[in-house]
Amino acid sequence: MSVAHAPSSTPVAEAVAAARAAFDSGRTRSLAWRRGQLSALERLLTEAEDELVAALAADLGRPAVDAWLADLSSTAAESRYARRYLGWWARPRVTGVPVGVAPAVGLWRPEPVGVVAIVGPWNYPVYLTLAPLVAALAAGDTAVLKPSEYAPHTAEALARLVPRYLDPQAVTVVQGGPAETQELIAAGVDHVFFTGSPEVGAKVAEAAGRLLVPVTLELGGKSPTIVDASADVAVAARRVAWTKLMNSGQTCVAPDYVLVHREVADTFVAEFTAAAREMREGDLAMRVVDDRHGDRVRGLLTGHGGTVVLGGDTTVTTAGAGDLAGPGVDLTVVRDPDPDSPLMREEIFGPVLPVLTVDSVDEALAFVEARPRPLATYVFSRTRATIAAVRDRIATGGIVANHTMFHVLVPQLPFGGIGRSGSGAYHGRWGFEALSHRRPTLVKPTWPDPSLVYPPYAESTKKLLRKIF
Ligand code: NAD
Repeated sequence: MSVAHAPSSTPVAEAVAAARAAFDSGRTRSLAWRRGQLSALERLLTEAEDELVAALAADLGRPAVDAWLADLSSTAAESRYARRYLGWWARPRVTGVPVGVAPAVGLWRPEPVGVVAIVGPWNYPVYLTLAPLVAALAAGDTAVLKPSEYAPHTAEALARLVPRYLDPQAVTVVQGGPAETQELIAAGVDHVFFTGSPEVGAKVAEAAGRLLVPVTLELGGKSPTIVDASADVAVAARRVAWTKLMNSGQTCVAPDYVLVHREVADTFVAEFTAAAREMREGDLAMRVVDDRHGDRVRGLLTGHGGTVVLGGDTTVTTAGAGDLAGPGVDLTVVRDPDPDSPLMREEIFGPVLPVLTVDSVDEALAFVEARPRPLATYVFSRTRATIAAVRDRIATGGIVANHTMFHVLVPQLPFGGIGRSGSGAYHGRWGFEALSHRRPTLVKPTWPDPSLVYPPYAESTKKLLRKIF
């Protein structure tokens, strides 16, 4: 049943009305429609690859191979997985019932929740807008996408392509910033799926909470990497370098800082430096999204109290060449900064790596435990006890041992934060669950209809009821 809302002719109101009408038509419930939409999404990603790659290059200076790997293939893989399993996830389940309720058949099944508002960030603007859409489509929901205004070419491309490939009434795209997002939240949607910063996440949760609209919050934070004395330090340094350099550190699950055991700290820094120089072919200037962001990251390089051992040139403001040229920040490693400096308090979200020396795994764990719960925690160690200690002691969104970030690419695993790094999870079945309502149905026969369950109750009946219920 549709909910009545104040008529209005803004693009946001029209998008929500269309998505509502598509949902109310009932067509999105069929598994065939859901699979068809997911196939169409995969076609979009294949056929419009060049268009999306060009948009990502214009917005972020992202090379084509990175765009394909991080934005396109990741989204397509998520869609293929959901398409394959959604029939299994959506099946009704019959349950037993307690003796006091028998005879009866209990049954529950996941129902679509309705219209989902999907609000995306700029850093992986295709993947982080369309992967939540995969969850919505798999669950039989309709969706209004609000891509980030800080990736305008990609937002434009999505607005052009989505209606061309997908059911144009069921999936709509609106563009804009905070005002349009607030309007969308208030426009009568049934769920808000938000990916972005904790600060904005709080505003989104507040606006949605006022209307009792449930939210999934995929937020950020400072994800630590612990390197203990037993680690394969060269592999650790190479893997941290690769993933820190990816999108110039502008990744929610990027290794934000490293806690490394004193015995291997110098080796780690040397190996990281060598690996990063090799991957960058000597060029330390890294492209970031815009000047505002570049200034913020460069600002973290003052007053940190540590020693700069790589990069650190705050006069670097441009990076890249040709189509990929744009605002830049010097790739920088800071050893032993003040733990209370802005560099160690704020999510860096840029190509700067603080490396802090610790004397034990316990010290590293205590450091992490004393701070807001991170989106991910990485541990490099050859000692099982160290990995177990991280697993058992740290409250964190996710854990990867002997690598970083790769849990994101496993649709069999739930992905999401905890505390300040987010609430709710998605990917694979978990996204389907997040955007479904688990609805119970209980069916009872009209016979038998024993009179003893109805009042008034004799003393003997009361005793019997106590035994049954
Ligand atoms: P952001 O929070 O600034 O913006 C995200 C979205 O919120 C944008 O679409 C924007 O238009 C909208 N918005 C901004 N202000 C708003 C307001 N007042 N009310 C309603 N909506 C508003 O985030 P960003 O800068 O695009 O992305 C970077 C942040 O996102 C980092 O903190 C990063 O860690 C996090 N992130 C998290 C994940 C994850 O999966 N957990 C993924 C990527 C990025």
